[in-house]
Amino acid sequence: MFRKHIIRDLSAYHHNELTLAARQLVETHLQNCPKCRTAYGEIQLGARLASVLHVSAAPEPLWDVLQDAQRVSVRHRRWIPAIAAAGFAIVVLALVISLRNHAAAGPSWEVDGFPGISRLRPGETLQTGTASQAEVKIANIGQLLVSPDTRIRLLVTKSNEHRIALDRGRVEAQTWAQPRLFIVDTPSASAVDLGCKYSLEVQEDGSSLLHVTVGLVAFERDGRETIVPAGAFCRTRRNAGPGTPFFEDSSTDFKAALQKVDSLSEGPERTRQLEIVLEKSHIRDALSLWHLIPRLEAQSRGLIYDRLAQLLPPPPGVTRDGIVALDPKMLDAWRTIVSQLWQ
Ligand SMILES: [Zn+2]
Repeated sequence: MFRKHIIRDLSAYHHNELTLAARQLVETHLQNCPKCRTAYGEIQLGARLASVLHVSAAPEPLWDVLQDAQRVSVRHRRWIPAIAAAGFAIVVLALVISLRNHAAAGPSWEVDGFPGISRLRPGETLQTGTASQAEVKIANIGQLLVSPDTRIRLLVTKSNEHRIALDRGRVEAQTWAQPRLFIVDTPSASAVDLGCKYSLEVQEDGSSLLHVTVGLVAFERDGRETIVPAGAFCRTRRNAGPGTPFFEDSSTDFKAALQKVDSLSEGPERTRQLEIVLEKSHIRDALSLWHLIPRLEAQSRGLIYDRLAQLLPPPPGVTRDGIVALDPKMLDAWRTIVSQLWQ
């Protein structure tokens, strides 16, 4: 699909040294190529870290771990959609269901490429068939691509909030307005747009998978916020809310162990899986480690502190005991460094 990767142009791109035409080529390629996006993310991160972190020599064993981790992460695995091969995909054509009979006045969203419906109003449902999809304008702030076999409901559209429910299936969303205006409710969590492009898929069991390609999405449930930056995934489970976010280029071992940590309850097996997570982590995995801290019990928090402090050292005044105790001031202070991963 691509002529060739553009990794060697990325540094010049980052430093604004390319011609306009070359910039556009890089930007188009970045939108479509996870590998180059990852490389670019690392260049950006490196530049940011250079500006916030004091240079300090890492102890030898840490370098070994980092180099191992990098070797492991060389293989790029793409997530294969677990669309459970909808065995009974008999419905062929698009169907519009549960539309209100009366044509309500007031704000509505434009629908494109979908037979029989041109506007979507609050309270209305859009259901695509097995072979149809729809393009929906999110008021004037973005665009939604509704995949086949997907059901969305428009809940609210007003100047300070645009909200849909995604009951099942998959949408790709892109917005260009200020953050927090567009929200997707799924059965297990709400995805709050922070200015971005992402896909979100809801499975039959109410679980979902979020993949962010540009910008940032926050997953929210019961007051807990999970930040999912470009290049990262986050799963949710019904009744459990968002899992721990992870970057797509993390090692396979890391991702497998992380998923177990998310699904197991406290005990020796979860601790064992956490140890694998920590051992296999490299710098970008600090995203995952950071989100794990408040989710696990005190002893595990201490283990995470030890590894995260090697990857992204906390500022002065932040102590192991404080983080284990979830001291809000210390968490905030460290967050200013860790959040370089997603700014
Ligand atoms: Zn590429």
